[in-house]
Amino acid sequence: MKTLFLSLLMVTGFACSINAQNQANYWQQHVDYTMDVNMDVESYQYTGTQKLVYTNNSPDELTRVYYHLFFNAFQPGSEMDIRLQNIQDPDRRMITEDKKSRIAALKEDEIGYLHVESLTQDGQKVSFNEEGTVLVVDLAKPIPSGGKTTFEMTFKGQVPVQIRRSGRNNKDGVALSMSQWYPKLAEYDFEGWHADPYIAREFHGVWGDFDVKLTIDKDYVVGGTGYLQNPQEIGHGYEAPGTKVKKQKGKTLTWHFKAPMVHDFMWAADPDYVHDTLKMENGTTLHFLYKNDPKFEETWKAVQPMTAKAMDFFNKNIGPYPYDQYSVIQGGDGGMEYAMGTLITGGDRPGSVIGTMIHELAHSWFQHVLATNESKHEWMDEGFTSFISALCSNEIRESNKDNPFENSYKGYYNLVQSGKEQPQSTHADRYELNFAYSIAAYSKGAIFLSQLGYVIGQDKLMETLRKYYADFKFKHPVPNDIKRTAEKVSGMELDWYLTDWTQTTNTIDYGIKSVESNGNGTKITLERIGLMPMPQDVLVVYNDDTRETFYAPLRMMRGEKDNPYPQIKRTVLPDWPWAFPTYEFTIDKPVSSIKAILIDPSQLMADVNGENNIWQAE
Ligand SMILES: [Zn+2]
Repeated sequence: MKTLFLSLLMVTGFACSINAQNQANYWQQHVDYTMDVNMDVESYQYTGTQKLVYTNNSPDELTRVYYHLFFNAFQPGSEMDIRLQNIQDPDRRMITEDKKSRIAALKEDEIGYLHVESLTQDGQKVSFNEEGTVLVVDLAKPIPSGGKTTFEMTFKGQVPVQIRRSGRNNKDGVALSMSQWYPKLAEYDFEGWHADPYIAREFHGVWGDFDVKLTIDKDYVVGGTGYLQNPQEIGHGYEAPGTKVKKQKGKTLTWHFKAPMVHDFMWAADPDYVHDTLKMENGTTLHFLYKNDPKFEETWKAVQPMTAKAMDFFNKNIGPYPYDQYSVIQGGDGGMEYAMGTLITGGDRPGSVIGTMIHELAHSWFQHVLATNESKHEWMDEGFTSFISALCSNEIRESNKDNPFENSYKGYYNLVQSGKEQPQSTHADRYELNFAYSIAAYSKGAIFLSQLGYVIGQDKLMETLRKYYADFKFKHPVPNDIKRTAEKVSGMELDWYLTDWTQTTNTIDYGIKSVESNGNGTKITLERIGLMPMPQDVLVVYNDDTRETFYAPLRMMRGEKDNPYPQIKRTVLPDWPWAFPTYEFTIDKPVSSIKAILIDPSQLMADVNGENNIWQAE
């Protein structure tokens, strides 16, 4: 009995700490990296030193730390390789034409690796063990709560042939795309350690400051995270306009970057980069680095003013971008977001590169400032990014779609039909199919917000995003934080929405069950067929084309949204308690006067069966 009581207590204690996340006792760890790196552009090997001052702001004493050694994923027999060979729908970028793992085929001088050669803690040697892409470090002495410790290491790496995100000589011919390239301390937060192996995707890092010196062949142009500290020595388009660069002796240049309050550091380098800059009216400098090749020029000129427009859109709709610089760099293998910049490939089609740029730039808000743990909550960064970039695209590219999220809904309905859906709370690496991951993260994640707009109203949704950004920037928000923000803004209770949508595969299916004459009026019966609750907007169109709406709020949301169609008369009906499978209301006009009745004219409610949402007069 006593042990049962104790275990109950522990469960309660754990639940409290979840609820306490991001409240008054929120804490996060802090890192200060100083790195000095030498890149050999002939062998694609590099060596480096790293000094890391680690501040333990947690309430716990730490006896171990972990580092990510991401480049070790690009070796035959790595977890990434084996997963690639076993998943039913492998990423096409990572397989050969005959569907074999490209990682399995890498030769010794083509693989990636990252090895720590020596490591000390406050001058004392510590023991460490490399386990695939993770370095396990048993500390020489514990780091107390509130304490600081300094790690110093030497490391060596080899840049893999481009397989995924990072690598050398990608298909556009970019020499070095350097992301996830340094020994990176794993995050410890209110949930404990997040030393996830690098299997497929998604990252979570420690907030802090980076000071990086990079020595490389002097013909190479470098772009990436961080402000260049020595532009007058470097030149390559970084020098103050109209000034002369001091000529440096030797074959190499040492680039010195500083990046304050970021959780990652990316760079890319190529001897044939063109480097353009664009200074925005608000003072932000945009950098564009792309291959000096006529086939890329048109695209990379077209992308420049669009980047400024997209940044203006996000600044206005989410909140001000907090850094003075952003770089759009040709590199990588598609598009991937990083701190203060992005790597984008496929530079010969302006439309596609502009679309990718909008998405990756949006990640500066939803990931690089609002740093959710992507492995656990992939829908919060990919989904929210997809949502806001669809809105942005619709405005700045003048697409003027009625429903800019239409493709997200189509994708989600396909996933439900396939029977392969897993809850959004699934770890990003643990989906059975890449297809199920990407729809859950991007499409169903975008719908989380667009549909939230249906529930609380569009103005309240946009206010929620602005408050979410203001309250959680430079932190690690969790799903409950976006829900609580929406609750505070709307005055509604939304736990049902977060729970059903993100932690289950329950679906929404409401329908019009019957429309019957009732004296001089009409009785309409709605039914709930799916398990997931939703409030209902019903549009009635009369024979003379006049319109009227009826709104049945969900009882458990304890509130009502504003009329989404102020030009149309709306009647607020009594609440619909979820457990009741049907719901009746009457309108005071005869059935003969009604042309059609439609559930959710906005189509923002993700109803998996649209056919029963409409009733038409015979
Ligand atoms: Zn994305």
